[in-house]
Amino acid sequence: MGDAVVGLDKAYWDQREVIEDRAEAVRVGANAPAPPAPPICPECGLNADRFPTYTDAWVLLEPLDPVEVLPSHFVPPGQRWMVDENGVAWNAGDAEPAPGMACRIAHRLACPGLEPLDLWRWLTAMREENARKAQRLFNPPRLPEPPGVGEATGA
Ligand SMILES: [Zn+2]
Repeated sequence: MGDAVVGLDKAYWDQREVIEDRAEAVRVGANAPAPPAPPICPECGLNADRFPTYTDAWVLLEPLDPVEVLPSHFVPPGQRWMVDENGVAWNAGDAEPAPGMACRIAHRLACPGLEPLDLWRWLTAMREENARKAQRLFNPPRLPEPPGVGEATGA
């Protein structure tokens, strides 16, 4: 019985790992069409550089023309892609880049067929809060007029 439970647990964790890998791949934009499909963006039709990832997915990276590589500090956290010596792409996540590091970006960041991503969510939240604050300070809600105010006296 113990082995059956261990087997069930292993199957559960294996399946869970596959699901989490798939979710992570989608989250970071590694959901490109797999070979033998051509490495073409399904949204805009442009060619991109396709690489396998460590989550058994494929990612389309922006081609290295005209820009060779980008300084990592120019690229928001979670959008920095590296390609290792095995030709496998991996996302550096939120890790702080070392000085002088370079990276690539997923094509979806520069894709003309997609809505731009909100790359700085904390800044968006701050801007929205400032908009609410400005609304409260400079355009406070008006109370309804009491009956009879503003009516002509009819003398
Ligand atoms: Zn595209």
